[in-house]
Amino acid sequence: MAQNDRMTCIDCGTPNRVPHEKLADNPKCGKCGGWLITGKVAEIDLAILQKASQDTALPLVVDFWAPWCGPCRAMAPQFGMAAERLKGKARLAKLNTEQHQSVSGRYAIRGIPAMIAFRNGREIGRHVGAQQMPGIVQFAAGLSRKAR
Ligand code: ZN
Repeated sequence: MAQNDRMTCIDCGTPNRVPHEKLADNPKCGKCGGWLITGKVAEIDLAILQKASQDTALPLVVDFWAPWCGPCRAMAPQFGMAAERLKGKARLAKLNTEQHQSVSGRYAIRGIPAMIAFRNGREIGRHVGAQQMPGIVQFAAGLSRKAR
């Protein structure tokens, strides 16, 4: 029996069922046709976060940032490079906490930048403070070993 994993489309918010062995084949969203795995940092809002954090296929690593935060802006290109390195292992996204102010309370974020990783509806990792690319990759690679 093929095992299906859940992966939310970042573009339209549709949860897709992706057979585990198809994860490496550039799966597309069944609704909008967008790529599910891009190797790029997706900009998400709270509604997408709430759906994509339920995914089982890959960990979702979210960079909570704000435009006024210097360390956040410094980390952004590092996060982008990490997204390429982690393609197929984790999906990276960023969420602007200034535009979506309720997230700070909802996810107990007291300082930014904060990286929080989610899988199957649970927080599976968190790091507060700016990171360079190798640190981000290491953080995310450690997650993939955690049980679903
Ligand atoms: Zn879609």
